[in-house]
Amino acid sequence: TKREDVRNVAIIAHVDHGKTTLVDQLLKQSGVFRENQEVQERVMDSNDIERERGITILSKNTAVHYKGVKINIIDTPGHADFGGEVERVLKMVDGVILLVDAFEGAMPQTKFVLRKALELDLHVIVCINKIDRPEARPEEVIDEVLELLMDLEASDEQLDCPFLYASAKAGHAVLDLADTPENMAPLFETILKYIPAPEGDPDADTQVLISTIDYNEYVGRIGVGKVENGKIAVNQELTLLNHHDLDKRKKVKISKLYEFDGLNKVEVKEASIGSIVAISGIEDIHIGDTLCGGDNPEAIPFQKISEPTLSMNFMVNDSPLAGQEGKYITSRHLRDRLYRELNTDVSLRVEDTDSTECFKVSGRGELHLSVLIENMRREGYEFAVSKPEVLYHTDERGKKLEPMEIAYVDVPEEFSGTVIQKLSERKGELQGMSTASDGSVRLEFHIPSRGLIGFRGEFLTSTKGTGILNTTFDGYAPYKGDFQYRKQGSLIAFESGEAVAYGLFSAQDRGTLFVGPGEKVYSGMVIGQNGKAEDIELNVCKTKHLTNTRSSSADEALKLTPPRVLSLEQAIEFIDQDELLEVTPESLRIRKRILD
Ligand code: GDP
Repeated sequence: TKREDVRNVAIIAHVDHGKTTLVDQLLKQSGVFRENQEVQERVMDSNDIERERGITILSKNTAVHYKGVKINIIDTPGHADFGGEVERVLKMVDGVILLVDAFEGAMPQTKFVLRKALELDLHVIVCINKIDRPEARPEEVIDEVLELLMDLEASDEQLDCPFLYASAKAGHAVLDLADTPENMAPLFETILKYIPAPEGDPDADTQVLISTIDYNEYVGRIGVGKVENGKIAVNQELTLLNHHDLDKRKKVKISKLYEFDGLNKVEVKEASIGSIVAISGIEDIHIGDTLCGGDNPEAIPFQKISEPTLSMNFMVNDSPLAGQEGKYITSRHLRDRLYRELNTDVSLRVEDTDSTECFKVSGRGELHLSVLIENMRREGYEFAVSKPEVLYHTDERGKKLEPMEIAYVDVPEEFSGTVIQKLSERKGELQGMSTASDGSVRLEFHIPSRGLIGFRGEFLTSTKGTGILNTTFDGYAPYKGDFQYRKQGSLIAFESGEAVAYGLFSAQDRGTLFVGPGEKVYSGMVIGQNGKAEDIELNVCKTKHLTNTRSSSADEALKLTPPRVLSLEQAIEFIDQDELLEVTPESLRIRKRILD
């Protein structure tokens, strides 16, 4: 049976292409807001970090009504680093809206999510947004999108998708550029017509696959998922099937049930096939679990959550500067906070270590962990982290495997040579290269994850802050061998805190930090000529000499952490005492020369 009064759709968009504005408009025009009431709050982007980093981390749901049909709009994570999230979210929907800026065109970072959507046979609606921009080039962008769809092996049906032209800002969309724009009705109509209504058997036993977990201090864990079959109702007794271990089943009772409406969750008594529901009151609910009714509970197949690829140690900060800013924390606080994160983040792992002050945290790549670090620092936690290390696996024959990533690079042409060289030295294989309409070059590399550790800062420096780097995990592959570039530590030469020479500051392949002429060094933090504090992630407190920064601009960093310009002697002492650093004959030679 089809549930004709419901549509479930996800929006795929690059950051800044107008997803939030579009959803605001749909909400406004669907009458969720009483007339003349302005949309006060922006809906989908509550997390500042997402904006800064250009990714969407959490998935949020919104529902709008149009002509008696409820349209659930599910936000897709813009980044694939965090393991399985994309598939889980897309499994709840029957179609996607690919939202593309009419000037910028389709960005490579949306490719991963789009590919998944195509593989799941979802219907696609293409919406070219910002057609009001003077530089808009909607027709060309349509061609680019079609090319992208063909590249990704879209089916004939998917290629035959409807195209709309919109100005989310002005609140209108049209099917033909010659049409007179009025409102969002053409988009609403296209969704109703083109996205299939969800299907299921309303009379079968209940089946709800839990796709995401929300966590709220007052009600605890909230499972969110789609009703695949049957009905779900408050007070109903159900069986919870654990996705790890199907024999692990538990009788549960639904205490509260919600559906999404506008920006809110509203309590409902019951829900039927196709509805996206939130369920509270089940403490032990996990992503991938199935809630079942009847006597023969059957689990819905679930994409396994991928294993972490990288780990870092988090430790209590005992540096002399700790506690000046933010909260001084004990190991207990740190531990509680880290374990609490596991409530909502299934691809994270936290382990105790031999030291009560230190915890091993593993996740999906550097970005995943650095988002956690930034979130915690914003909450006022003061702590130190070690440099990240990748997690190796072995195959059945005992061969060493390492995590791989696809790196998408956008750079002005003049920098493409440098970037290719740097990534090749790190065993990156160039897999694609194209020139965008604005003359910038897009590169695609297949590269070991370890090659990207600490690379972001260096990348920004060597592209003068103009490059864009995005990465997605691409499975494990046989170890690619050691890197060719000099990976062992050498020196930074200082003259009253001013770096007069440049050097490699690195610890094996755990990260490199280049200091160029004219760049200042403040206790391990490098402030580039562009005035930005670079390599904040690398600026870790393995030694007591480094200070934490929680800021992305030099000014802010200096305010938070009193600058300690190191003297030459201090700098050398600092290098000597960094237990991670290895001294090479060459570094000793140069160091001696400076000292002399
Ligand atoms: P998101 O990151 O995809 O959620 O993008 P936002 O909705 O936050 O929009 C990013 C920027 O683009 C904001 O400054 C919007 O005002 C602007 N924007 C969104 N839609 C349009 C549009 O149709 N035309 C123009 N000119 N600007 C738009």
